[in-house]
Parts: sequence; C-alpha cells; structure tokens
Amino acid sequence: MKAQDSFRLDGLVAEGEGALGAMRDAMVVARALEGRVAASAKPDTSPVTIADLAIQALIAKRLRDGFPDDSVVAEEDASFLRGSDDALSREVVEAVRRHVPDATLERVVDWIGWGSSGPGSRFWALDPVDGTKGFLAGRQYAIALALIVDGVVRLGVIGCPRLGLNSRDVAQPVETPPGGIAIAVRGRGAWWNAEGEDVWRRLEVSTRHDASTARVVQSFEPRHGDSERSARVLQLLGSATPLLMDSQAKHVTVAAGVNDLLMRFPPDTNFHDSIWDQAAGSLLVEEAGGRVTDLAGDPLDFTAGRRLLRNEGMLASNGRLHEAALDAVQRAN
Ligand code: AMP
Ligand code: MG
Repeated sequence: MKAQDSFRLDGLVAEGEGALGAMRDAMVVARALEGRVAASAKPDTSPVTIADLAIQALIAKRLRDGFPDDSVVAEEDASFLRGSDDALSREVVEAVRRHVPDATLERVVDWIGWGSSGPGSRFWALDPVDGTKGFLAGRQYAIALALIVDGVVRLGVIGCPRLGLNSRDVAQPVETPPGGIAIAVRGRGAWWNAEGEDVWRRLEVSTRHDASTARVVQSFEPRHGDSERSARVLQLLGSATPLLMDSQAKHVTVAAGVNDLLMRFPPDTNFHDSIWDQAAGSLLVEEAGGRVTDLAGDPLDFTAGRRLLRNEGMLASNGRLHEAALDAVQRAN
C-alpha cells in the first residue's frame, strides 16, 4: 500500500515514500533484536544496543542514497564498533546486511558516522531506538525520523513496534497486531497504519477540555524528568495519576486522542532534549489538531543545534487543554 493512495504527500512524495520504506525495514531489524541486552553503556549511563547502531546505519544509508544533499542528525556514534574481532561489530553488520547485502563493517561505521552532522538548512533527525530502556525492558519504544527544512519540521515518521492504539491499556505492549507506523506531513494531517492492515487511519486529538479529567501521559523513566515539579503541576490541574510510557509512542497516543496531555519536565536546569526526541512527535501532534510548546509556551526551536537549547521542557496537548496546562506550570514554579 502506498501512502499516496491514502493521502497526499504533496511536494514530499519521494521523501515520504523513502522514509516509510526505511522505517518498515528498520522495524523488522528492531523486532529481530528485541530484548537483546545492552551492548554497552554511554558515558551518561544510557544504554546502546545492537538495534540502535544497526537501525541508524540502515536508515542513514537509505536517506543518503535517496537524498545525497541532505544531512542526517542522529543519536548514536560508531565508537562502540571496535573492529571485526568484536562480537558487537559482527552482530551489527549482520543485522544491516539482511537489508543491505553489501554492508561491511567499514561501510556500516561510515553510515552510522553520517549521523554526527550538525543540522543544516535541510536535514533528517533520527532516533534509531527512542526509549532504549523500554526496548530492553519489554515496554514501549519507537523509531523516530523527521525531515526539517529551514527550522520547520515538514515530515515525521514514527515506528512503534509495540503500540496497539485500540488496546484498553495503551501503554501495554501488544503482540498481535504488532504495532504500526505513524506519519505526519505538514499541512496534510497525521495518519496511522496498524501493521498488517491495509489502511491509513487519520489521527485526531481528543476534544476533552476539562483538565481534571485529562488523561496525562509521561515518561516511564523517573530519571528523565523532575517528578516533584510534575506532581505539583498535576495537583494544580486536578489530574489523576499519569500513564507512564517510554518514547515518542506517547506523542502518537496524544495525536490519536487516546491521551490528552503530555508534559516533559527536564531533570535539571541544564538539560535540553535532543531534536530527534521531539521533531517527529511534535509534528504528529500538531497535524492531528493539537498544540506543542515548551513549558513557557514558546514554540520548539529546531535551529539551535543538536539539542533544543532555546527551550525548556515540552508540553503537547489536544490544544483545548494547553492554556490550562501552561497556567498550572507557571503557578507551580
Ligand atoms: P522518554 O521515554 O520519553 O523519557 O524518552 C526517551 C528519551 O529520553 C531517550 O531517547 C533519550 O534521548 C532521552 N533521555 C535520556 N536520558 C535522559 C535524561 N537523563 N533526562 C531526560 N531525557 C533523557
Ligand atoms: Mg531518544
């Protein structure tokens, strides 16, 4: 099924079809490697897995083949791949080779390295495994890809191998049907294709406007946020306990109207999210009719480098609850 049969990609046909094709292969890689323990730990103690490296290599290679003038800004670097005697290197190359038969260690290292670019005027932001802790622990995770042109997110694609939007408990990983892909095209809406189904379903945010009944979703990892600040805001809103989920699968649930509000309070004042943690998800929520700002109500600024250095935290909502949430954030300061 081609996206174009269901909705218009406008001037982004090659980009949309290319990103979806790369995403479908990446999801096969991710599933095959699910549950594989962390290969190594980064200096900030966050895990990196075979899947992180293999998916970054695969998607970066596909993007560079299709769009040689674009740069790729991605999370991982190739320093973990130490040579052909090393088991991690062998497994990463083997995983990539299933989709790119001429993959060698040297090439894979190159492809991963393409992700170290700084953002240019037109670039792709990629998180090969968003929510690696969820990926390892059997919870939600996502593969997130966005095209940013002159600071504006034009296209966002999020693969969610364990997300069942019709589940009663959306945080609960699904086995069958196994997840799906969300796509948003600026000006053209947001869409969801559940795996195994032949339709793209349009995503729309909820119409809920009473903050006290808002379904709030937040990061599963307490260390990714400021839980005391979050508790103060939730109390002011009169909201019940939030649903906890890893990754930009959260944004997909807000876009789908399953949740109403997503808040991200940075763990400390120096912390800024990376652009690949927000770009695809923010467009998805906006194109589903919602609103996305930082905690001060300012738009996310994707021109500040690899991180959102000009923003503090993030608030994504169905739109109707946005002002109430911003107000609660102000009052809780
Ligand atoms: P989430 O599941 O929403 O917390 O998002 C997962 C993302 O949080 C990861 O892909 C990381 O980029 C990012 N992350 C990692 N460590 C931290 C941290 N200490 N504080 C905030 N975010 C983090
Ligand atoms: Mg991430």
